[in-house]
Amino acid sequence: MVSDLFAALPDSLRQSLALRAQATGESPALILEQMLRRGLAVKADSPSLYVSAPVNALVEGIYEENTQISEILEHGDFGLGTFNQLDGEMVVLDGKVFQLKSDGQAYAVEPTVHTPFACVTFFTPNSEELIEQELDFKQLTELLERMIPSLNMIYAIRIEGHFSYVKTRSVPRQESYRPLVEVAREQPEFEFEQIEGVMAGYWTPSFMESLTVPGYHLHFLTADHQHGGHLLACKTRSIRIGIQQLSRLEVGLPMTLDYLTAEFTRDLNQDLQEAEH
Ligand code: ZN
Repeated sequence: MVSDLFAALPDSLRQSLALRAQATGESPALILEQMLRRGLAVKADSPSLYVSAPVNALVEGIYEENTQISEILEHGDFGLGTFNQLDGEMVVLDGKVFQLKSDGQAYAVEPTVHTPFACVTFFTPNSEELIEQELDFKQLTELLERMIPSLNMIYAIRIEGHFSYVKTRSVPRQESYRPLVEVAREQPEFEFEQIEGVMAGYWTPSFMESLTVPGYHLHFLTADHQHGGHLLACKTRSIRIGIQQLSRLEVGLPMTLDYLTAEFTRDLNQDLQEAEH
């Protein structure tokens, strides 16, 4: 079927595809698949952020939803999240999903695995910048703030390159109903020095605090796909920053009994700030 598809392409497109494959080291079939995914996902005129469930549910300890990874990938090829029973941090890069568990290792994820919370988008940066400078996390966010036109929009952020220091954490697997803020107090942290890798995540405005983790939320994966986690601190050395503005938001509302019968009346902002930053 794939060979039929290649045969149907004009020569010039086949050549461009071969060149891209050579440059990225990916197979032409994978590149074609990713491009088709993107093309078919563009339903409206502007790119959107897809949130599989409001983050409030997670903060209240609802760690199980029936959303499969395969469904998440229908909404985006880039992003972050977690897994059922809060079993590690999720990072999605170029349509591949990784599970960054509390043992510090990264694992490839099957499409049938479930997630209670994921944020994804089809990533195509509007602006890119190369930075050859040592910036700590605070300085990096100040730089990002100069790159993004308005704090009231959503931005997908991909930062790739060499870091002289990265600190992450990964949530340990949990039973449901233990508030996220308690779990977050016992999560293992990991430090990396002189490491190549990618950070993937978002800026979302503070008024979205019941839907997503507000502010900057980034997950880190090492270039060898072996380690990573939720980003806590870093020092950059030589990086490329890609930013995509997202002007639409799509939110999934889970159909599980836990979700349907939960009472989201508590103000969860403080818990979320402590658990995620
Ligand atoms: Zn996170």
